[in-house]
Amino acid sequence: MSARTSPGLAGDRRPAPPPALRVQDVTVRFAGLTALGAVSFTVAPGSVHALIGPNGAGKSTCFNVLSGLYRPESGRVLLGDTELTGLAPHKIAALGVARTFQNIVTTEGTVADNLMVGRHVLTRAGFAASALRLPGAVREQRAHRDRVREIAELTGLGDHFDTPVALLSYGDRKRVELARALCLEPRVLLLDEPVAGMNGAERARTAEVVSAVRARLGLSVLLVEHDMGLVMSLADEVTVLDFGRTVAHGTPDEVRRHPEVLRAYLGTPGADPAPAAAPAPGEDPV
Ligand code: ADP
Ligand code: MG
Repeated sequence: MSARTSPGLAGDRRPAPPPALRVQDVTVRFAGLTALGAVSFTVAPGSVHALIGPNGAGKSTCFNVLSGLYRPESGRVLLGDTELTGLAPHKIAALGVARTFQNIVTTEGTVADNLMVGRHVLTRAGFAASALRLPGAVREQRAHRDRVREIAELTGLGDHFDTPVALLSYGDRKRVELARALCLEPRVLLLDEPVAGMNGAERARTAEVVSAVRARLGLSVLLVEHDMGLVMSLADEVTVLDFGRTVAHGTPDEVRRHPEVLRAYLGTPGADPAPAAAPAPGEDPV
C-alpha cells in the first residue's frame, strides 16, 4: 500500500520528501488576454516557494491550473513523474496537492466538523458503513478524528477543536482553511494569500504555523502572498510574475534587488519592493 492510500494516522511519523512540482511552459488565455504566457518554475521537494507579483499578474490563475480548475492551453504540470495537467481537481487532491482559496473563509460547523470534511477524500469505509456505525467504520472514524485533532494542534486550533468556527477570530477562521487542506495529507500545499486581511499578530501566528507545518510534515509549500515581510522570511525561492510572464526567479535576497522586480512593483528602478513593515490588513501594497 502506498503512502498516499495509507493516510497519516500513525501520528508523528515523518513521510518521505515530496516529489518536485514542475510547472513547464504553462499558457492560459482568457478571450485574448494572456493570463499566463509560457510560465515555468519548479517547487523543490520540501521547500517553501513563493509566487509573487502585482495584482493581475496571474498568480491565482496559476493556482487554478495547478489544482485542476483551469486547463492550460499549452504546457504541463508534473508532480514527480506524474502528469497533473488536465486532471480533475479531486484527482489532483488525491495525488497529494491541496490548496486554500484567496477569498474563502468558512462560517459553518465546528473546527472539528470542518477538518473532518477535509478528511473525506481519505475515508475508505464509505458513507453507508459510517452511517450504519459498522465496527470497522467506527474505528476508522476514530483514527481520522485523532489525526484531525493532531492537525488542529499543529495549526494552533487545538483549544478550539469543538468551537463553532463562527465564534473564532478572523485569523483563526482563515487558519481553519489551512488546517482543512492539511487534512488531505498533502505532499504539496498551495496557499493563496493565507494572511490576507489579518492583523500583525495574526500574520505572525500564521507564519509560525506555516513554518511548523513544513518542518513537521515535510511537505512543499507554494505560497502566493502580498505581504513581502512574510514572503522574505518564509520562502526558500521566489518566482516573480508580471502580466503573466516570469520576470525574476531566485532567493528572496536576489529577487528583492532584481531590476525587473523593482520595475514591476513600483515602476521606479532603485525602489525597494520589500518594505520591513507589512501592509495594513486587507490593504494591497502594490
Ligand atoms: P493575480 O492572482 O496575480 O492577481 P489573476 O490570476 O487573478 O491574477 O488574473 C490574471 C489575469 O487574468 C487578470 O488580468 C485577470 O483579470 C484575468 N482573469 C483571471 N481569471 C479570469 C477569468 N476567469 N476570466 C477572464 N479573465 C480572467
Ligand atoms: Mg489572486
